[in-house]
Amino acid sequence: MSGEQREPVKTICPYCGVGCGIQVQQGEEPGDVQFRPWGDAPVNEGRICIKGGAATEVVDHEDRLTDPLIREGGEFREASWEECYEYVVDELERIREEYGPDAMGFFGSSKTMNEENYLLQKIARRYGTNNVDNCTRMCHASTVWALRTSLGAGAMTNSMRDLREEADVFWIQGANPGEQHPIANSQYFRQAVLEGATVVQVDPHANKTTRSFEIDDTDRHQHLQLNPGTDIPVLNAVIKTILEKHEDEAGWIDEAFVEERTEGFEHLKETLEDFDKEAAAEECGLSLEEIERAAETYASADNAAIFTGMGMSQHRCGVDNVQNEINLALITGNVGRPGTGVNPLRGQNNVQGTCDVGAMPNVLPGYQPVDDDEARESVEEVWGFDVPSEPGLTNVEISHEFGNSVRGLYVVGENPVMSEPDANRVAERIGELEFLVVQDIFMTETAEYADVILPATTWAERGGTVTNTDRRVQRMRGVETVHENTKHDLEILSAVGSRLFDDDGFAFDDPEEAFEELREVCPIYHGMTYDALGEEGLHWPCYEPGDEGDPYLYAETFDTDSGLAHIEGVTHTPPAETPDDEYPLILTTARLEEHYNTGTMSRRSPTLNRQTPENFVDVHPADAERYGIEDGDGVTLTSRRGEIDVVAQVTDATKEGVVWTTPHFAAASANRLTNDVLDDRAKIPEYKAAAAEIEVA
Ligand code: SF4
Repeated sequence: MSGEQREPVKTICPYCGVGCGIQVQQGEEPGDVQFRPWGDAPVNEGRICIKGGAATEVVDHEDRLTDPLIREGGEFREASWEECYEYVVDELERIREEYGPDAMGFFGSSKTMNEENYLLQKIARRYGTNNVDNCTRMCHASTVWALRTSLGAGAMTNSMRDLREEADVFWIQGANPGEQHPIANSQYFRQAVLEGATVVQVDPHANKTTRSFEIDDTDRHQHLQLNPGTDIPVLNAVIKTILEKHEDEAGWIDEAFVEERTEGFEHLKETLEDFDKEAAAEECGLSLEEIERAAETYASADNAAIFTGMGMSQHRCGVDNVQNEINLALITGNVGRPGTGVNPLRGQNNVQGTCDVGAMPNVLPGYQPVDDDEARESVEEVWGFDVPSEPGLTNVEISHEFGNSVRGLYVVGENPVMSEPDANRVAERIGELEFLVVQDIFMTETAEYADVILPATTWAERGGTVTNTDRRVQRMRGVETVHENTKHDLEILSAVGSRLFDDDGFAFDDPEEAFEELREVCPIYHGMTYDALGEEGLHWPCYEPGDEGDPYLYAETFDTDSGLAHIEGVTHTPPAETPDDEYPLILTTARLEEHYNTGTMSRRSPTLNRQTPENFVDVHPADAERYGIEDGDGVTLTSRRGEIDVVAQVTDATKEGVVWTTPHFAAASANRLTNDVLDDRAKIPEYKAAAAEIEVA
């Protein structure tokens, strides 16, 4: 094809979960891959943020891995694909023989597609382990847990489109769509606000969302700038206000909805019987008046929608945090209608799909529990082999076991050495593995420890499907492979799986063939085909061919055993680390619009890197004065687990006593400081609160 001008292909931006459609066009040379707008793309209608516009910059980047590599004598040397496959298969067999199948861990990736994650988790299960997980463990595992157990599905209840058209109030707690979902924010939520919707933002940091809605607390919008880790008390104060007001004047609670469609309301009332709102407000760093005003705004709306994000989920009480948002929505009847619901804004472009297709230790495709005999047997029947019935280890549990019960790790497109909390410990422990294989497009901080590196094609070069934040499954399409000795992730996994098990059931010739099998075992995708997805995509659940998919869930019933939604009162669990004499500050973390997670791609994009080339920390002016820090000073930020050198940004965007930084930069990642304490049920780490100290470097 070299020398010809190709037609642009329609695909999906590889960065965030909004799922914006873009086009890519290959020029006369394969490496000349350019961004082109897709004017009538279904989600974004041609609009694009800075990341989407710069996404093609990594496709022919000089750092691309172009050949398979094997570590020998401490150095990497080029190897043939056949040699690598043989090495990988031999090592996987050896580890299973010596230690058993649970000695391997498999990390899928939300940067890769549904078909690829489907095949990875199938390989793990055929190998004999459920130790397969993906990065949702780090972002929304607690949200998925709470939504699944209380409502039925671990996903947004509503869609961006019905929220734009029908919501009167947006309650945005621990999410920052202005920064992290820019097109959803500008194209959907801001449009609703321009037409009269009111915003209540609950967040310790004043951010781009605050600015985009011009929230100044003097008009209709409100920003409750609470202390990190006090989301349960603030929501309990809101719910208690609603309960009290309803006693004075009926209408604050939707009694009919609570009576007919929920269970557990009495438990919530009992939990809050002796709850002290004044004390809670003080603990949150807020006034009771502002909490009560927010409660009234939410409860008096015709349609109120909650957006939830990692400020809620990434706590050791992440499940309880989200459960309390669900409680608020249910007692006011704000679920099951357009413009309402509890809506997690998902991070990576396919984090929803990676969970949907079963790259998780406790569920099979379609969220079917591995320990549910009937569900497991229905999948086994299609696959033709037995699946282990005990849930496996999660990401962080696997890394805690490096060199102990876990002896080998297969990583597709993830970077745990930077993405996991207490990253210094992960870097130390990963060297204890006997075998590490990494599939990626660049030499990541994790790949540097690998025994085998398998060079994959980028997002722009391959086809498949991804599922965006509002459950819309969309097709990606690829241009010609840029580096001839790289392979698509599906092709690599097919080669490994079919050799490892000597079984054609692991060899898929193309993504559509894999999708056809996925549909058979994943009821919520069963009605979808590549043809039916077309250019618009479909929202799941889509049970039968011809179903158009549901833009909002639970109109009639909840997907729980009883068909009722589950209300459950929760009590406050403070962060595992609170300030003390040695570490008197609270460290919290968040992402930036112009970078992405561990920065594997965004740090290599000249456009994005120019915007913010290094890490920084927000310090409140009162703290800056106390520590003698001037704006722009180099400072050292420390926690019990490590230190990083960053530039101080003195700003009242953060609260006094709270320092705020990011995980994107390898030289000074926040995750060297963060705490790896886990939520008991969802096993998500507490990235959002750690005790810290700061000093001028
Ligand atoms: Fe890509 Fe998200 Fe930006 Fe859309 S909003 S262009 S999906 S990063």
